[in-house]
Amino acid sequence: MVTYHYVRDLPRTQYPRIKALLTSDFEQQLAYLTRFYRFVTVQDCLGAIYGGAELPANSALLTFDDGYMDHYQTVLPMLVERGIQGAFFPPAEAVMTEKVLSVNKIHLILAATLDHDALLEELLPLLDALRPEFGYEDNEALFQRLAIADRFDTAKIVFIKRVLQKGLPTVARDRIVDILFARHVSTDEAAVSRELYVSRDQLRTMAQQGMYIGNHGFNHVWLGEMPRAAQVEEIDRSLEFHAELGLGGTKDWVMCYPYGSYDDSLLSVIRERGCKLGLSSRMGVARLDRENAFTLERLDTNDLPKAATAAPSRWTEQVVGSEHG
Ligand SMILES: [Zn+2]
Repeated sequence: MVTYHYVRDLPRTQYPRIKALLTSDFEQQLAYLTRFYRFVTVQDCLGAIYGGAELPANSALLTFDDGYMDHYQTVLPMLVERGIQGAFFPPAEAVMTEKVLSVNKIHLILAATLDHDALLEELLPLLDALRPEFGYEDNEALFQRLAIADRFDTAKIVFIKRVLQKGLPTVARDRIVDILFARHVSTDEAAVSRELYVSRDQLRTMAQQGMYIGNHGFNHVWLGEMPRAAQVEEIDRSLEFHAELGLGGTKDWVMCYPYGSYDDSLLSVIRERGCKLGLSSRMGVARLDRENAFTLERLDTNDLPKAATAAPSRWTEQVVGSEHG
């Protein structure tokens, strides 16, 4: 399984510095994948896990998170042309309302600010200003706790993202995100939302064209770190959205955990509601069996070559053997 987020002609967009996959690189990667893999559908994966069907080791499922307009405008025609099913996971709130999810506000703030040191300098006084009201630790302790570089970002960027995503009480971080969003991105959130996400009609069109539309929760939160009642609300609101759209995402459905975050409580909540597969953000080749059905590994687009003629990567060699080339 391969994970994609933004796919766009970056230089021609309003935020050329957003972390996105170029359309041309996506095209190249599709050609690379076509050389080595056999594309399968969500239904194939369900059949392999629950129906005893055999899938070849070099099966590939393409997954697209977060419900971006890119997926309708750019990805859909490319997949339809090649007869490939994509699995798309829009957070319900992004499609249903004219809000911009905090996760995307943060991406846009980071893309709109050239100097992340300056952004950090701007963030620290905002943290100070709200501290008396919310009582979180001082900035140095926050930095110690949250600034841990990962395979995608530097420690400073991780710190900014983590503070804004989940490092603070929800109300405090939403307030800070909104201040920075209005300063650096736009004061018209509804307009940004309409441009950024697919609409209900576009999702229906995607489903009609053979794409799979799955569950990515309601508000794109760290589900594994929430109390059970909040998990139930997140999942039920998202399922209502799927029922309203008539996308079939309410029976034998697939969950894709926002930020890859889940816990045992969440797994029981989704199982009770008919979920059959859960996609994590753990890096790896998914093992399709019942034991692993709710913790399926995925590769990121950046883990695979973006050149049609590239030699097989280590991930590819692992599943196709060395006789191909
Ligand atoms: Zn997501």
